[in-house]
Amino acid sequence: MLNIVLFGPPGAGKGTQSERLIDKYGLVHLSTGDIFRANIKGETDLGILAKSFMDNGQLVPDEVTINMLKAEVLNHRDPKGFIFDGFPRTNAQAAALDELLSEINTSITSMISLDVQEDELRERLANRAKTSGRPDDANPAVIQNRIDVYKNETAPVIDYYSAQNKWIKIDGLGTIQDITNRLFDAIASL
Ligand code: AMP
Repeated sequence: MLNIVLFGPPGAGKGTQSERLIDKYGLVHLSTGDIFRANIKGETDLGILAKSFMDNGQLVPDEVTINMLKAEVLNHRDPKGFIFDGFPRTNAQAAALDELLSEINTSITSMISLDVQEDELRERLANRAKTSGRPDDANPAVIQNRIDVYKNETAPVIDYYSAQNKWIKIDGLGTIQDITNRLFDAIASL
C-alpha cells in the first residue's frame, strides 16, 4: 500500500494537491476537515461538537478526531492506499495512526510537507474565503489562530516523521501544476 500524509499549514494546498494524487495513484482520500464539515452539514453530534472548535480555529480534541479517523480507515476494504490530508495534526494523532495502520499490517510510506511562508498563507486563505463558504476562512483573527495552532501544535509532527526518516519537504510556491509535478517526482523516488 502507498500511504501518504500530505502535511502543511492551512492554505498550503493540501486539498487541491490531494485531488491530483488520488487521481494518479487511486488512493482513498481522508480529509479530517472535510469529514468534520460533512458532519456539521448533517447536524450530527460529532458535527455539533467539532463546530465549536473549528469556528475558533482550534483543534478538535485528539480522542474525538482519532476515533473518527479510525472508523473511516477501517471502513475501506482492500484499499490501494490512503492519502491523509489534515491528519495527523498532533504527535498523539501520529502515534495513534501508526498503531492503527500496524493493526491492518501496513504503515505510513512518507510524510510530504508543503512549505509555504506565512504571508502567502494569509493571502491564500483570504482569497479562498471568497468562494469556500468556510466561516474559518472569512475571519482574519481565526486565520491567524489556525496559523498559530499549526506552529505550536502541528509543526512538531514533522519531527515525529523525521525521526522515522519519512519526512520529505516540498516547495509549496508556484503554480498548482508545478507543485503537483514536485509531488509526483517525490513519490516516484520513494
Ligand atoms: P482543514 O479543513 O484541514 O483546514 O481543517 C479545518 C478545521 O477542522 C481545523 O481548523 C480544525 O478545527 C479541524 N480539524 C481538521 N483536522 C483536524 C485534526 N486532525 N485534528 C484536530 N482538528 C482538526
